[in-house]
Amino acid sequence: MKALIAGAGIAGLTLGRCLAQKGWQVTILDEGSAARGEGYLIQLFGSGYEAARRMGLMPRLLPLAYEMSSVRWLNASGRTTSRLPYRTLQELLDGRLMNLMRADLEQAILEQLPSNVQLRFHCSIVYVRTPVGHVEVELSSGDVERGDVLIGADGVRSRIRDLVFGEGSVWSHYLGFHTSTFVIHAPEVRDELGNDLHILSVPRREVGLFAVREGNVAAFFVHRAPQTAPPQSPFEALEAEYGDLGWYVPLVLERAKALPTFLYEQAAQVVLPHWYRGRIALLGDACQAVSLLPGQGASLSLAAAYVLGEELNGTTDVKEALARYEHRVRPPLAQLRRAGRRAADWLVPATPAGILARDAALRLASVRGLSRLLRPVVNAAREDVIVPAE
Ligand SMILES: Cc1cc2nc3c(=O)[nH]c(=O)nc-3n(C[C@H](O)[C@H](O)[C@H](O)COP(=O)(O)OP(=O)(O)OC[C@H]3O[C@@H](n4cnc5c(N)ncnc54)[C@H](O)[C@@H]3O)c2cc1C
Repeated sequence: MKALIAGAGIAGLTLGRCLAQKGWQVTILDEGSAARGEGYLIQLFGSGYEAARRMGLMPRLLPLAYEMSSVRWLNASGRTTSRLPYRTLQELLDGRLMNLMRADLEQAILEQLPSNVQLRFHCSIVYVRTPVGHVEVELSSGDVERGDVLIGADGVRSRIRDLVFGEGSVWSHYLGFHTSTFVIHAPEVRDELGNDLHILSVPRREVGLFAVREGNVAAFFVHRAPQTAPPQSPFEALEAEYGDLGWYVPLVLERAKALPTFLYEQAAQVVLPHWYRGRIALLGDACQAVSLLPGQGASLSLAAAYVLGEELNGTTDVKEALARYEHRVRPPLAQLRRAGRRAADWLVPATPAGILARDAALRLASVRGLSRLLRPVVNAAREDVIVPAE
């Protein structure tokens, strides 16, 4: 059996690894280049953590993971207003929580790819055809690839989704937030931050900083905003929105100016009535994007790819496997979407009163025994996508 996978992100690589290890021929086609530049901090938890464990990734990931002591929320002048010990989050997630740079996670999965997997970069898919019993893609180079199944793991702006299910914006539900993330070199800030994730939080906006290796700092920005056309210059958009803030924000913006590019997104959930049609299915952000805010995308992509791998490996009937994959992942995902919307509202309050209420809850939850107060927010991470268990 041969699988064609569009997208060499977390979802595509995980699926490629799961199928190739069970004897499938796998070709992964990606429009980008081998080394993706954008880095950001992700939290691996819940089902994603469990999928990584079952894949045997833990010995590789543990040395790459970042220790975190606590999450600190700061006011506009940089004073700490609340602090949540990291162990509280770990307890709420049953110890299944890990901080990683996205590129490190991708690299770890890449290293597990059997050597017979064909990885093709700079490939742009222009047509999808479905001759009886197969599926074919035509690339902009004119090359044609044929397989038994085609998986669109090509991210939130999936081309496979456009070609097979119709134009993308129809499926995209804007969440009301713009977000941006990048890594800067800032050893002087790094020392000040220690092992804490610092989040400067003012009404409608927040800026998070966390020290990573080699004198670098991973930064993220989130603000409430109406949906607009993507900004011509992400840097100017950031400066207009955050230029008035103090603390380390001016320094971070200054360093960001020197970056060749960085991610700037309008956070959206992708919702489709079905994830598969015939021998073609979507995977990861292409159909399951929940929200950037609770930091679930990477975990979900890993878990959903693991489930799809299990189903395709369990049968020779591709269509039945795709149906079962959707049947297993869709119900928990619906829960995660609802929880994700609530968590986003709670984490980036619109008003000073909202910030006071959130900080009061955080202070209470950090008292031993009261961490359950955060359950409604953390439930956004707990839904199990991988069941049935081993
Ligand atoms: C700003 C930002 C911050 C984030 N923060 C977090 C976080 O803190 N925690 C977390 O868990 N998640 C976070 N995420 C989300 C997380 O990165 C994604 O959910 C996850 O990477 C999805 O994996 P994926 O493999 O489905 O898609 P992607 O990682 O988007 O990979 C898609 C791949 O497909 C390729 N591709 C795209 N179009 C085509 C095409 N036409 N043909 C072929 N290949 C194509 C791309 O080059 C890419 O390699 C964040 C995302 C962004 C943008």
